[in-house]
Amino acid sequence: MGAERIDGKAIAAAVRAEVAADVAAWTAAGHEPPGLATVLVGEDPASAVYVGGKQKATHEVGMLGFDHRLAADAPEDEVVALLDELNADRRVSGILLQLPTPPHLDGGVLTGRIDPVKDVDGLTEVSAGLLAKGRSGLRPCTPAGVMELLARHDVELEGAEAVVVGRSDLVGKPLAQLLLARNATVTVCHSRTRDLAAVCRRADVLVAAVGRPELVRGEWVRDGAVVIDVGINRTEAGLIGDVEYAGAAERAALITPVPGGVGPMTIAMLLRNTLQAARVAAGAPA
Ligand code: NAP
Repeated sequence: MGAERIDGKAIAAAVRAEVAADVAAWTAAGHEPPGLATVLVGEDPASAVYVGGKQKATHEVGMLGFDHRLAADAPEDEVVALLDELNADRRVSGILLQLPTPPHLDGGVLTGRIDPVKDVDGLTEVSAGLLAKGRSGLRPCTPAGVMELLARHDVELEGAEAVVVGRSDLVGKPLAQLLLARNATVTVCHSRTRDLAAVCRRADVLVAAVGRPELVRGEWVRDGAVVIDVGINRTEAGLIGDVEYAGAAERAALITPVPGGVGPMTIAMLLRNTLQAARVAAGAPA
């Protein structure tokens, strides 16, 4: 059996077009355009590329972009002062602190400084708590992107066995909660999981978010499973996922490629979150 590829690029483009149409309708109704502020501390080239991509996408959907760059040795006080200023700025609907921050700063603590109503990355304790409680709120972008891919392919989650490999605050944990909220039976694996292969073989929906090239082997995939590969590993052979694609694609019904699968969804969901934050700030229901 050959799996159908999930085209994340096309789905992300569709989400972005929907957000652009919604932003146009929002401003036509007399509202200010939503605004996204990004904060980059230091000059890490990969982070600079990510932030540049987010700013470009923001403008493309008709939102305002506020691109803040601080020196690599910026003291904590300076970052806090900027975040406080952005929290108070009515033109700014969403704030994103690009992670990782330089080693002298605690990115987690600084993220917590962001007003939860502007937490478009969904990474503050308040957003994590709302998700854990099943309350509405801003969800982390990559897990939300995975859920969007599953929804657009009508993947049945109710009662399904979902296995998430990885338990980071950024991906694995929030994704497990989103799947649970859709009534999947969720197992979360990590570096101490005994017999990872056996757990993966149970999965109707198998998600790998580890950061180890091709850790999840094709023979661990159950026939007809849906395989979502969040991993992005830069190797000499190029970008490689956490799943051994060729072997997994022989068994799966649906599978995301790397690149072109989950990756493009993150910015699309960030834009959607920014519009949602602007609506909530204007008094719309969360
Ligand atoms: P992370 O914070 O490093 O977490 C990795 C997780 O994998 C941890 O929970 C770890 O377990 C687990 N793990 C490590 N080795 C394992 C093993 N041998 N067996 C089972 N589990 C193992 O990584 P992350 O931030 O979640 O990112 C994961 C991957 O997704 C990376 O490749 C990253 O680049 C990619 N990513 C992509 C996007 C995107 O597409 N836009 C966004 C975010 C991340 P312990 O908790 O026990 O250490």
